[in-house]
Amino acid sequence: TASLASPNLDNAREELRRIFGYESFRGAQEDVLARVLGGESTLAVMPTGAGKSLTYQLPAVMLEGTCIVISPLIALMHDQLRSARANGIRAATLTSVDADWRETMDAFRAGDLDLLYVAPERASQPGFRDLLKSAPLALFAVDEAHCVSEWGHDFRPDYRQLRPLMDAFAHVPRLALTATADAHTRADILTQLGVPEDGLVLAGFDRPNIRYEIGQRTNAAKQVAELMAATPGPGIVYAPTRARVEKLAQQLGEQTGRPVRPYHAGLDPQVRSENQAAFVASEDMVIVATVAFGMGIDKPDVRFVAHAGIPKSIEGYYQETGRAGRDGDPARAVMLWGAGDFATARQRLGEMENARQAGERARLDALAGLVETPGCRRAVLLRHFGEDPPQICGNCDNCLNPPKVADATELARKLLSAAYRTGQSYGLGHLAKVLTGDADERVRQRGHDDLSVFGIVAEEDAPLLKPLARALQAQGALVANAHGGLELAGEARAILTGEREVEIVLPPKRERRRKSRGDQ
Ligand code: ADP
Ligand code: ZN
Repeated sequence: TASLASPNLDNAREELRRIFGYESFRGAQEDVLARVLGGESTLAVMPTGAGKSLTYQLPAVMLEGTCIVISPLIALMHDQLRSARANGIRAATLTSVDADWRETMDAFRAGDLDLLYVAPERASQPGFRDLLKSAPLALFAVDEAHCVSEWGHDFRPDYRQLRPLMDAFAHVPRLALTATADAHTRADILTQLGVPEDGLVLAGFDRPNIRYEIGQRTNAAKQVAELMAATPGPGIVYAPTRARVEKLAQQLGEQTGRPVRPYHAGLDPQVRSENQAAFVASEDMVIVATVAFGMGIDKPDVRFVAHAGIPKSIEGYYQETGRAGRDGDPARAVMLWGAGDFATARQRLGEMENARQAGERARLDALAGLVETPGCRRAVLLRHFGEDPPQICGNCDNCLNPPKVADATELARKLLSAAYRTGQSYGLGHLAKVLTGDADERVRQRGHDDLSVFGIVAEEDAPLLKPLARALQAQGALVANAHGGLELAGEARAILTGEREVEIVLPPKRERRRKSRGDQ
């Protein structure tokens, strides 16, 4: 590791060329590096493919001492190890599957490592803390940092041990990295990992070359086969279960004559890695997979990502669809959903421990908002990540082909007023009772039957309240708080003052019946 008195970005640019062979930094990399090289702790929120690894690998080489990288998946660590070493970076992993840990520890103590990858569970082991004390440290890089937050979609208790460990090395700067963090999760990560509030670097999330399309699932195999016929090039199809993966892979292979392979955790490891390698090398293969597939895979020419069922969250959707079109050429993201998908997910909510329910419910509501919006999909996505996008993108299904909608402006005003008058702390169930004049015990106890909004919605409009609430959430007029209460958000004002109209998508009655009988 080269010692550097005052590292700056010019040096970094030279090193970028020398080590990685790249001409310039991309997007937020520069901002992140300026902080990290200046010794400031940072939370970098950058979309998948934005080049997060480089923001700690480069400082690891430039700064005195070793950079400790905390990463949640051993497989991912070994991928990173390979690519770091291929660039001539002195790197090692210290995991349960490594046989050479003694050599690694010696190399670390001798100051011969730029990068040391470890799993989070290592953090709580006293022996590990002692090891870290035996040589200078350059940086703590915490990958997949959303795992530290119960608000995130992938909470891992071991991540909570990282703060005490890092606090024991208070002079060593921290770099937390994630691709997926909404405002709640971001704030939580800052606290949990001890990064100052002004240490947040938020990269742009827009992927303009990806066309987002979301529609009802009637026959997944037939629909994906049509997508394949219209979209040459490599593709990924996500299916929710191993059984569905196997079946869909077989059907698609038969129907399209294109090479199609399955990928899921139940496959023989040998077959699985063969299928992955074949996909990475291929120019027209389609892989049907569970969500386990894709992490750490660097294949720039994926032309489409299809979801044969709903993803877990908007974060998951963004991450999975983000694997399409990394080369910048046009790519498609197609989600096929059934109402049953949401029903199943909500059922699962009931089986969850209480602490996690609120977060999961908020995630599901946000996803429903994306699926049901008659407006721009990209706008919903970007707003979810805290951006302020234009109302129309011109490259999603709803922008290209506006759906049938009904005006619900008046009803929206009533719903927003009810949320406001009741103190912005009740869920839709309670608000609907107030609005339709259903004075149950809770309504009477709170005195909500005395409010001016009590009973102002006709019974026949009651079924519209649910899609409306989701639409309002999707549009940023309502937001669910940590306890599921609906609060007014930024866009509410324009609706209440009559500056903005609200439309909701009306599903045809026939389809509603078909959905309730179950779909495939
Ligand atoms: P992330 O972890 O954010 O998903 P990676 O670190 O895996 O992204 O980087 C994605 C791809 O972009 C990799 O192939 C990487 O080599 C490449 N990359 C990163 N930074 C640059 C850059 N400045 N110029 C060109 N390519 C880059
Ligand atoms: Zn759009």
